[in-house]
Amino acid sequence: MPEITGVGVSPGRAVARVVHMPEPVAEPAPDARLGPDADVAAEQDRIATAAAQVKGDLEARAQRAQGDGKAVLEATALMAADPTLVGAAQENVAGGLGAGRAVWDAAAEVGEMLARLGGYMAERVRDVDDVRDRIVAALSGLPAPGVPESTEPYVLAAVDLAPADTATLDPATCVALVTAEGGPTSHTAILARALGLPAVVAAPGVIDIPAGTLVLVDGAAGVVQLDPTAEQIEQVRAVASRHRTFDGHGRTADGRRVQLLANVGDPKGVAAAVEANAEGVGLFRTEFCFLGHTEAPTIDEQVTAYRAVLAAFPGKKVVVRTLDAGADKPLPFLNPATEANPALGVRGLRTSIRFGTVLDDQLAAIAQAAAAEQATVWVMAPMVATAREAADFVARCETAGLETAGVMVEVPGAALSATHVLESARFASLGTNDLTQYTMAADRLLGELAQLNDPWQPAVLRLVQLTCAAGVERDRPVGVCGEAAADPALACVLVGLGVSSLSMTPRSIPDVAEVLLATTYDECVRLAALAIDAPGADEARTAVRAELPVLSDLGL
Ligand code: PEP
Ligand code: MG
Repeated sequence: MPEITGVGVSPGRAVARVVHMPEPVAEPAPDARLGPDADVAAEQDRIATAAAQVKGDLEARAQRAQGDGKAVLEATALMAADPTLVGAAQENVAGGLGAGRAVWDAAAEVGEMLARLGGYMAERVRDVDDVRDRIVAALSGLPAPGVPESTEPYVLAAVDLAPADTATLDPATCVALVTAEGGPTSHTAILARALGLPAVVAAPGVIDIPAGTLVLVDGAAGVVQLDPTAEQIEQVRAVASRHRTFDGHGRTADGRRVQLLANVGDPKGVAAAVEANAEGVGLFRTEFCFLGHTEAPTIDEQVTAYRAVLAAFPGKKVVVRTLDAGADKPLPFLNPATEANPALGVRGLRTSIRFGTVLDDQLAAIAQAAAAEQATVWVMAPMVATAREAADFVARCETAGLETAGVMVEVPGAALSATHVLESARFASLGTNDLTQYTMAADRLLGELAQLNDPWQPAVLRLVQLTCAAGVERDRPVGVCGEAAADPALACVLVGLGVSSLSMTPRSIPDVAEVLLATTYDECVRLAALAIDAPGADEARTAVRAELPVLSDLGL
């Protein structure tokens, strides 16, 4: 049976038929004008009909959807129903443009107008573009852009997925993701883990799989198998029907405590964390609350957002990360200038060089939210590189009344000088996504570099080890909050290297808990040595997985 190999980024196996993500809608040629004999009224009617069709489709989808997806679809349907866009497009037709081009230009005009209004209206520009693409596709008889709708289970094949695609993905029917591009920390990978979907990225061959082909996706091995046997299909279905739960007390087989925490992106992610019985939140990515905002949020606005998360964890730890703006997560009010190398630029804590009050306001908001709720609040800064930055951050936190201030260790320099960093910082949380991209000098979003961008790289594990050793020396806890923590085999290695907490997408908690519970601390230490001494990431992964038969028992 033929198979396509890529990089497995979200474990689990699933079988279903392939559905392809439609091609993005191409911009109609700027000179697409009507001929002299064209029927202008008929062309204008085509636009009205296409817009009505788009509105109807979106409303019907919104009715069937839930949560985030429903909200996104409803907002887009509202925009499709707004007569401004259709009216402007029809005027452009009267001026001689073909329907597709007329819609395209009208959307640009409406978008500019909304952007000028700023605030909430500026954030609707995205919806205008989405409606534009849908109307242009309808006019050309092409499938609507975005995640296709299906009533049958399917494996979604795409070049890569954008954050905007993700809200409308329904995990009830989409059972796995396979992409040509993307790395282990791409949006596809993060989304797949959040939804608990097996995923393989950086597998260019998936684009050529004929639609409707039955495939078996193995998200741990990174393999997409075409036309699997009846026996293989049966095995996958048997494992999928088992349901695992976490008892809320992470530990190894011999009882060594390992806190299992959840990564939360915004207040809406809280429900999944509570449902997974997480011991708290190890990474609250506050920037996700304000993506797309053109102005800095007010202190009150922030307090409301943070309290919504803290309220769900009374008596439990919540680690709030200050805004990590820049590179793959730009915030217009913190990253106004275009930089040649944004991942190496003014991002994370560094934005406070320019916008110190934004950081101080945020710390004030976190302190207010903490005082109003019962959670045990820790706070940490992203992208800390030096001991001086750590000390400055801790001092700012103290001024704001926040006692437990720590740092993310995601820059190799911080790991290498962890002893000094941990003099002032009360704890460290290893951000293995960025730590890997900076250690290997490989953009975390580039599919072509996915083999380099792998947290199993022994060089990355050595930096984890160094940081843990500094934690022991300074008596500071060291945890991991990067995607590495969600890989059950790697989680054992991290524990063996000395980390005392693992924070991950809530869906992964039961799997990580179960594998840890089947492994003693001494075994973890032995596995860590195997991984760190391996010549490369693949060898490390293979050597460790071979020693953990529990993984195949659990279908991981
Ligand atoms: C990381 O870099 O590992 C991390 C947890 O932060 P983010 O993925 O949000 O950059
Ligand atoms: Mg990071």
